[in-house]
Amino acid sequence: MAEPLKILFLSAEVAPFAKTGGLGDIGGSLPQALAALGHDVRVVMPAYKNIEAGYPGVEALPLQLQVPTGDGLIPAGVFEGVLPGSDVPIYFIGQWHLFNRDNYYGYWDDAYRFAFFSRAALALAPALDWRPDVVHAHDWHTAPAVTWLATAGQANSFYRGVPSLFTIHNLAHQGKTNWHIFHYLGIVTHGLTEEHYDEVNFMARGIYHATLVNTVSPTYAREIQTYQGGAGLDGLLRHRQYDLHGILNGLDYDAWNPATDPRLEHHFDLETLDERLAGRRALQAYAGLPQRDDVPLLAMVSRLDWQKGLDIMGHMVHLLLNGAAGDAQFIVLGTGEPHYEGMFAHLASYHRDKMTAFLAYNAGLAPRIYAGSDIFLMPSLFEPCGLGQMIAMRYGSVPVVRATGGLADTVQEGITGYTFYDYSAEAFWQALQRAIYIFNADKASWRQIQRNGMLANFSWERSALGYQQLFEWAIARMQGGAASGE
Ligand code: ADP
Repeated sequence: MAEPLKILFLSAEVAPFAKTGGLGDIGGSLPQALAALGHDVRVVMPAYKNIEAGYPGVEALPLQLQVPTGDGLIPAGVFEGVLPGSDVPIYFIGQWHLFNRDNYYGYWDDAYRFAFFSRAALALAPALDWRPDVVHAHDWHTAPAVTWLATAGQANSFYRGVPSLFTIHNLAHQGKTNWHIFHYLGIVTHGLTEEHYDEVNFMARGIYHATLVNTVSPTYAREIQTYQGGAGLDGLLRHRQYDLHGILNGLDYDAWNPATDPRLEHHFDLETLDERLAGRRALQAYAGLPQRDDVPLLAMVSRLDWQKGLDIMGHMVHLLLNGAAGDAQFIVLGTGEPHYEGMFAHLASYHRDKMTAFLAYNAGLAPRIYAGSDIFLMPSLFEPCGLGQMIAMRYGSVPVVRATGGLADTVQEGITGYTFYDYSAEAFWQALQRAIYIFNADKASWRQIQRNGMLANFSWERSALGYQQLFEWAIARMQGGAASGE
């Protein structure tokens, strides 16, 4: 067993306290998997409105931080709880004006909000008299902590020599602001090639300043080093290619278990797969679709964002529901860009008896869709890791995915699902036709593909071992005295 490490884990989202997507799932699961390896992990996130309003099991600490900023010392409160089902402590940084708002993101001052959060999270550790061996920061929101550690932090007696790991969950959101933020953070640094005049790009800063960098699948780690996948940062990522790793996310197999999921009415496992049919019929009834057992029931659960491949979706759905591959039904659960919500609303009203669109975020309905559908669609333009396809496999829904990022690393053509490469409606349609053909014509093979998916094991334990290795390397790098990124 490795030496236990003290890990300060910073994230803008930690499920179940706050989640808009995969980042939240990881924030909730990875710390527990690291703790199970014997490490002392402490998680920090902002105290959003639900925490300020009183969250069961979360208490305000008798502690007020004085966070140093260019605008003077700014006070912050601290709440404490544990990650559900564990004894991993989680701290919430309370700053009423910045975080007690209706949404997590989308405000003009987001860069300041998360710069403050990052700086306050670093101020928390000395207040707890707990010096981390490594700081693990996630996505642009917490990159200011990485930049601070690599610059001002090296002149700070508490933090000198503490390395960082920066994990990229989604390169598309980079957190751009202007140079004043460095004054606010008390940082002196130079511009990066990737930043225009007076611009600060926090994603770029995280990549540049972290001791080591990783992302959430091996394929995405390769793709982001290309012009097509690099979102403007491919040059910087190639510059750090020997410090850039890909560790596939795990799935929380306790939370996502079709045999025990409390959100499901009808439970099943590998041995009782036939009982899945009851949930499928209940889902059809709930969606107002005919309860037909003979037609493939397709589904999508997703943020409605351009990254999710929705631009090659509309034409294909129309073709499908016009019967081009025989009868089919389609259920979508998603919310996001109005343009895509409109597309699905339109398709659903046109194909009234075959398609239902739930244009909402509904954590209770999502598992019933995974458990009740036959085919799960994920034609993403890019996908750092993707949890949807892993959950679908676990719940016996066969994924049809574009082979990009984590989708390429988790779905095997003809074994656990169906894949295509070209970002085109035609390639998507062909993969879907292969799936529908087997569903209709070869029940035994279909059942085998479902079983293979249910048996696939993307465990957090394996991911946590990968992170442990990166932490050890980052610590060794700092002890060896080598500069980070420079
Ligand atoms: P991303 O992080 O890019 O959104 P992932 O596939 O990694 O994509 O994670 C998506 C997670 O969010 C899954 O757990 C999925 O079930 C959930 N999810 C997405 N949209 C919805 C929705 N409208 N309602 C309920 N859950 C959703």
